[in-house]
Amino acid sequence: MDQNIAKLKQWVQESDNIVFFGGAGVSTESGIPDFRSVDGLYNQKWKYPPETILSHSFFERDPEEYYRFHREKLVIDGVKPNRAHTRLAELEEEGKLKAVITQNIDGLHQMAGSKNVLELHGSILRAYCSRCRKPYDADVINHGQGVPRCSCGGVIRPDIVLYEEGLDDDVIMRSIHYIRQADVLIVGGTSLRVYPAAGLINYYRGNKLVLITRSSTPTAADLVVHGRIGEVFDQI
Ligand code: ZN
Repeated sequence: MDQNIAKLKQWVQESDNIVFFGGAGVSTESGIPDFRSVDGLYNQKWKYPPETILSHSFFERDPEEYYRFHREKLVIDGVKPNRAHTRLAELEEEGKLKAVITQNIDGLHQMAGSKNVLELHGSILRAYCSRCRKPYDADVINHGQGVPRCSCGGVIRPDIVLYEEGLDDDVIMRSIHYIRQADVLIVGGTSLRVYPAAGLINYYRGNKLVLITRSSTPTAADLVVHGRIGEVFDQI
């Protein structure tokens, strides 16, 4: 076993206060493409960059085009949790892991069995009316046709944080709470330098900050484990 993975395994064995912070890389290993990845066909199908379509003002202006993008690029049917998701759920069940904080919107941590999941960017598995806030089954946004509307006439929207919108204060406060008192903080599928990871990880006070990454960029983590996140979690 890789020496750094062995060290991570030891830290995990010794701790009962682990927090995981995950980014897009956790989901891409389940076959969910990063919506920001612009393939060759992109410009033939879409007139705007993803960051524009997934913005608050665009949603208000052109919900029809928003939903065309949402259903084609954000909703990926048949995806399953990978070993990172399932191992994190096991560690929570064993009383070792306190929280999963994720930037992903796909609900795969819950599907794997995790209970305490803090979704910084919300979830496409929840929907609500943008006018009266009545909750709706996510099927109407993810698999319906056209623009889904509430009985009040308002447009039903996904419970995700669009560009130009702020993160949920309660989710932020709870994330800070767990990070601040974590013994081991494991970060995977994201870089430590980009928002919102960078700002939140600053609250960590311990000396067991672990970064699982496939890149070789230098970083300030206490332990860097190189590899695919699912394969790393399979060994700890
Ligand atoms: Zn309504």
